[in-house]
Amino acid sequence: LPMRYAGAEPSVWTEFIQMAIDYKPLNLGQGFPDYPPPEYITDTLAQVAVDPNPLLHQFTRGFGHPRLVKALSKLYSSLIGRQINERTEILTTSGAYEALFSAISGHTDVGDEVVVIEPFFDCYEPMITYAGGIPRYVPLRLKEVTGRLPTSADWVWDKDELENAFNEKTKMIIVNTPNNPLGKVLSMEELTQIANLCKKWNVLCLSDEVYEWLVYKPHKHIRMATLPGMWDRTITVGSAGKTFSVTGWKVGWAYCPANLMKNLQMVHQNCVYSGVTPIQESVAIAFEKEMDRMDSDECFFNSLVRDLEAKRDYMIKILQDVGMVPTVPDGGYFVLADWSALESKVDFNSETDKYRDYRFTKWMSKKVGLQGIPPTVFYSSPNKHCVENFVRYCFIKDNETLRQAEEILQRWK
Ligand code: PMP
Ligand code: GLN
Repeated sequence: LPMRYAGAEPSVWTEFIQMAIDYKPLNLGQGFPDYPPPEYITDTLAQVAVDPNPLLHQFTRGFGHPRLVKALSKLYSSLIGRQINERTEILTTSGAYEALFSAISGHTDVGDEVVVIEPFFDCYEPMITYAGGIPRYVPLRLKEVTGRLPTSADWVWDKDELENAFNEKTKMIIVNTPNNPLGKVLSMEELTQIANLCKKWNVLCLSDEVYEWLVYKPHKHIRMATLPGMWDRTITVGSAGKTFSVTGWKVGWAYCPANLMKNLQMVHQNCVYSGVTPIQESVAIAFEKEMDRMDSDECFFNSLVRDLEAKRDYMIKILQDVGMVPTVPDGGYFVLADWSALESKVDFNSETDKYRDYRFTKWMSKKVGLQGIPPTVFYSSPNKHCVENFVRYCFIKDNETLRQAEEILQRWK
């Protein structure tokens, strides 16, 4: 490997998805629904396939298919409260992954520091280091909770630690709300702390908001770009995979002021150049439909979160009944659960990994038949201990799948 990739290892996804194929456990690992997306969304694809316009099967505009950037501009202009230019302030990408990559590579110089709040979606770290940047981590830790289950809001950073992570070398902070894997939805107070530091140190904010529609009442998703003075320094990332429950479509986007977008465009144009035309057309049609019924109960943004809340509550009950201590997520479709009370039932010797959560999840995948994700991948080495006794389960699954998970856990405990 070239120097900048030195030490790179297969990611948790590469390893655990292969394990799921090899051992066929019930899969609550990688985040994706195991039931069909709404028919109208898959119908858009069928409609596009037979559309008489032959150009829908050819290259589209490199920085974003015109119909899609138009829909995104309309949607986010109204959500952010300012006109977002569809040509210069939006980029569509190959999933949110490529939006993150373009933003990080496009703005990080060798020696720049990037503040990352932990737990963080694992690809941020290599994206920063490949660009020559230096990650500076600020962990969320679970505070003491008695007499009730912890919720994702009980995972908090130390204010001094956050402040101390900033200095004159800081180029960017990466924020993920709702957070993967915790489900934490950052409050106005928390976002304001970050915004004030960004303004104080002249730092960019890369705001990964792929789970923006998956927030459980009474919590609300607050877009960083709407905070005073933050539009000018915020790059926001979204994902059609999460928005419409079609993770395989791999369409994402970034929006930000044109001067910041230029850097992302320069990365994108010589790597991906243009995204998949028929899929972008389909996503545009889906957005147009939802924008016409944003306030109705049927709008997918509203119905999905309702369905998911019931699944979340069932998942919490399953984990609690078996003796784990789940953290109730305020957003997203993952739950972190502490399995320490059950450690006598775990064969830690059958795997050789350094971290206990890895041994737990691998042994569970292979021998007990239930796959989760080891959450230490979402922390930097010094802070992995915060979640070594935890597992992440995905609950955007058919109720029958969740019932089977319950059965497997009950049999094992
Ligand atoms: N950010 C977060 C926090 C995610 O969980 C994911 C899911 N893979 C992504 C980005 C990437 O999204 P996409 O699948 O659209 O590339
Ligand atoms: N975001 C999803 C998850 O966290 C998928 C990750 C991936 O496939 N790389 O499970």
